[in-house]
Amino acid sequence: MIFVIQKHDATNLHYDFRLESDGVLVSWAVPNGPSLDPSVKRLAVPVEDHPLDYGDYEGVLGPGYGAGAVIVWDTGDYDVVSGSVDEGRLTFTLHGHKLKGDWSLRRFKDNWLLVKKADSFAERDGDILVDRPESVLSGHTIESIR
Ligand code: MN
Repeated sequence: MIFVIQKHDATNLHYDFRLESDGVLVSWAVPNGPSLDPSVKRLAVPVEDHPLDYGDYEGVLGPGYGAGAVIVWDTGDYDVVSGSVDEGRLTFTLHGHKLKGDWSLRRFKDNWLLVKKADSFAERDGDILVDRPESVLSGHTIESIR
């Protein structure tokens, strides 16, 4: 199964975190993006499922809901380690270009928290969002694709 993270410069910049499940991309909007630091919990707001073929979309969405530039910030395969979206508790392994190793998503009231698990891919220093702003598909940044 694939995962996709699209950096989306809408009214509020966010990262759309999407996991393939039952033929769709189950999706969350992560305002502050993922962190490699296991001590950092990032809010993940559930948003509507997207079709699988949206997973390689890059470009500029026109006026209307979600208008703004989109790049594929990371993508790759993932494996479920334990839990499920329905249970509100999911641990999974990402095999992306930028994000690797184990992660968890946990429901907390109406929202979810995205957290890196402590493993050899965790990093407490630096910020991958700053260090690696580019699309893994095209090399474009949000600024260059506008
Ligand atoms: Mn979005």
